[in-house]
Amino acid sequence: MIEGLPALTHAVVDCNAVVHNLKVVRQYTSNSKILAVIKANAYGHGLVRIANALQDADALAVARVKEGIELRLAGITNRIVVLQGFLDRDEMDAHRKFDLDPVIYGFHQLRLLATCPYLEELSLWLKLDTGMNRLGFKQEDWRAVLEWLNTHQGQWAELTWMTHLANADDLEDSTTQKQIDLFRSLTADRNEHDSIANSAGILGWKQSHSDWVRPGLMLFGVSPFAGRQGYEFGLKPVMTLRSKLVSIKQLHQGDAVGYGGDWVCNKPICLGVVAIGYGDGYPRAAQSGTLVAVNGQVVPVIGRVSMDMLTVDLSTCPHAQEGDEVELWGSQCAIEQLAKSASTIPYTLLCGITRRVGVMEIPAVEAEQPVQLAAEFS
Ligand SMILES: *Cc1c(COP(=O)(O)O)cnc(C)c1O
Repeated sequence: MIEGLPALTHAVVDCNAVVHNLKVVRQYTSNSKILAVIKANAYGHGLVRIANALQDADALAVARVKEGIELRLAGITNRIVVLQGFLDRDEMDAHRKFDLDPVIYGFHQLRLLATCPYLEELSLWLKLDTGMNRLGFKQEDWRAVLEWLNTHQGQWAELTWMTHLANADDLEDSTTQKQIDLFRSLTADRNEHDSIANSAGILGWKQSHSDWVRPGLMLFGVSPFAGRQGYEFGLKPVMTLRSKLVSIKQLHQGDAVGYGGDWVCNKPICLGVVAIGYGDGYPRAAQSGTLVAVNGQVVPVIGRVSMDMLTVDLSTCPHAQEGDEVELWGSQCAIEQLAKSASTIPYTLLCGITRRVGVMEIPAVEAEQPVQLAAEFS
């Protein structure tokens, strides 16, 4: 970005909302420690920025070793868990060097640990597969895992059991209770701590709360349940995606709008062109009728979303002008609604923001400090 020239299209990231949402997690799970999940660049919000806002979390979780190293190099001192753990000896060594906790889910990792000269420095998160069939030891392997633990008893710094829920976003699905029961049956006579719940578990399955909960999406103010929105759970959206109107003009009845000419005016309308498209991460699949907000008033997208632009019907805002602000998602236009209209989920929308989009951070305000102004970042 040319210095001083702000991005036309930007994501406003409100760190105060992150702090608020963390407190909401505490309210839902007052007896659990919080492992705040900030993988994938903190769901598109900026890894280090969000880690700084989450200093009150009991630990942070990332997916890959490199993400953990990035946090350490930025001076983050919270405990950090690496959800994909290590794959080889170099990655295992990096866990020790940067003080990262590995998640252990396969025998290849147990073999490395068996010859690890600094095992006593590592805090292990042992992952059981209770039905998701992604990472974790399957039930038939649990006996072998317990034997490994017996052999190496007391040689590690700390051990925490975990599993991941596959269907917790569907409150009618019986899989979740089965997963919880299976997990509890194995860990009941162990004295180590454990962890089950993601955001959907925290909000929808109280019986999944245990020593640790692992919120991700809800920290960003978004509901994990289809058909529900974050505010219904007391959450505040962290990201507001904004752009501007770059052109306004009158169209006649019969005019076809955009690529393919799918959308044809059935009456004269006032058309607005907004400087955002799939090249910025706005979903191309968003259908005509998806709502955006112009000067605080919602208007529908019409025609296909293109790479750099999308078009809206401004007929209900006759005073709109070129340069006016448009909110694509945030407190006026829920990201959950957009996800539905684009046949996707909020996770992919948040992670899909591209580097062309500027980020404007609203720093978290400490109680006694004066209010700081928003600072522009590239
Ligand atoms: C991503 C992830 C989470 C957080 O999930 P949300 O649905 O975003 O709350 C928790 N645990 C594990 C293992 C994950 O991979």
